[in-house]
Amino acid sequence: MHHHSFTFNPFSENTYVVWDDTKQCIIIDPGCSKPSEEKVLSDFIVDNHLIPEKIVLTHGHIDHVLGVSYCTGKWNLPVYINKIDIATMEHSIQWAASMGFNLTMPVADYIYLNEGDILNFGETNLEVLFLPGHAPGHLGYYNKTTNEIFQGDVLFHQGIGRYDLQGGDYDTLINSIKNKLFALPNDCKVFSGHGEPTNIGFEKLNNPFLQS
Ligand SMILES: [Zn+2]
Repeated sequence: MHHHSFTFNPFSENTYVVWDDTKQCIIIDPGCSKPSEEKVLSDFIVDNHLIPEKIVLTHGHIDHVLGVSYCTGKWNLPVYINKIDIATMEHSIQWAASMGFNLTMPVADYIYLNEGDILNFGETNLEVLFLPGHAPGHLGYYNKTTNEIFQGDVLFHQGIGRYDLQGGDYDTLINSIKNKLFALPNDCKVFSGHGEPTNIGFEKLNNPFLQS
């Protein structure tokens, strides 16, 4: 499995294109918010001869969904999300107007995922983990074969997700990290919605929010 990350929009959100040797790819949390960012994303897909199959969302916050309409329009892709976070997305879109973004609910086929589901593309299977606390319907996508997880805004390098946004809860977030993410192997590579990659073992030892 291969991936490339892009940092898009005023929130410095990480968008990931993930593919395998079949060249089929998924786009995780497309955050492109203006034509120059959309071009960077589409040029990458064209230049690498990738075939987009799915839009995959970790959660419905504005910075993670700003590029969904562009991607569904360009490649006619279904959107995979936890049903709980449809409401989060609708709330984000209402809030977007006050932030100066012209955003409407993307028109697409929405396919709902839950804990234990398998998301597949090409020859790759990703296990779905339910990781609430930052957003109520937050999901992570774990590749057991390559030992990598894309997990949005739950765990960061030396940080944790905000829990003060709508539907957020501190105890729920800590539970998701300690009981779900920290159950993964220590050398599991962690890709987050903001900032640099990390791994589980490093965060267990060094993350200042998780030392008790
Ligand atoms: Zn978020």
